[in-house]
Amino acid sequence: MNFSTSECIKKYPITKIDTHTHTYFSFDCAEHGNTPDKMCAAAVKAGLDAIVLTDHVEVNSEAEGIYTPFYYEERRRQCEAARDKYKDSLDVYIGIELGQAIHYPGLAETIVKNGAFDYVIGSVHNTRGDQDFYYMDFSKVGYDEVIRLIGKYFDEYYEMTRLPYVDQCAHLTYPLRYLRQAGLDADILLWEDKIIKILKSVIDGGKVLELNTNCLRHGIELPDDLVLEMYRSYGGELVRIGSDAHYERDTAADFDRAKQTIDKVYGGKIL
Ligand SMILES: [Zn+2]
Ligand SMILES: [Zn+2]
Repeated sequence: MNFSTSECIKKYPITKIDTHTHTYFSFDCAEHGNTPDKMCAAAVKAGLDAIVLTDHVEVNSEAEGIYTPFYYEERRRQCEAARDKYKDSLDVYIGIELGQAIHYPGLAETIVKNGAFDYVIGSVHNTRGDQDFYYMDFSKVGYDEVIRLIGKYFDEYYEMTRLPYVDQCAHLTYPLRYLRQAGLDADILLWEDKIIKILKSVIDGGKVLELNTNCLRHGIELPDDLVLEMYRSYGGELVRIGSDAHYERDTAADFDRAKQTIDKVYGGKIL
């Protein structure tokens, strides 16, 4: 990776870089028309200094052919063209959001090595043998099973944080987002031990903890402030905001809200 974590953290004020964005090269944006060029234009319009384009590479999909294939070369060509076009007003980093890397660690390593990405976000969207939480119908899953699945999620998330090439750990509270959308809830402290283990690993690995604003656009408040407080209590300071925009209009969305949360936890002293 050329775009070192420390550079990412120190070079830009926290609200001036969107570290997690998608273009139409992501399988779930194919129909959105959000080319790299358009995403960069949106970033300039939003007043950002930098954007990291982090299209989905779901490693289990690459291995099992679940989603449409990832067009590495054409995507790089368009991202580089955008980087060049906007170079006077925006720093453009070509990253990926790597999902389920631990399911196929050899393949994941090859993808990262061959892709020569500036930045790698690590994600867990589904646990081994289970479907993406996004597609899960929680109303049909019993409470005990929900608790077990989310516990399994945090275990796999911990494994992901151990991967040396991961720069940023994405949306730690991901399953809770969909649980709440289904009108259900669970106290995140049920998994406190697992979360502490994750946060310590993120800190020890010098990785960035992501504050993801996607849920706010769907009216879902997550216990991210609680997680951030735990992270801070163990000495964590590398926090970055990611809009997780899947449309141009969502670039840098709700950064003010996320910054308020960060300021609340860090007393306005971070970054
Ligand atoms: Zn994700
Ligand atoms: Zn994403």
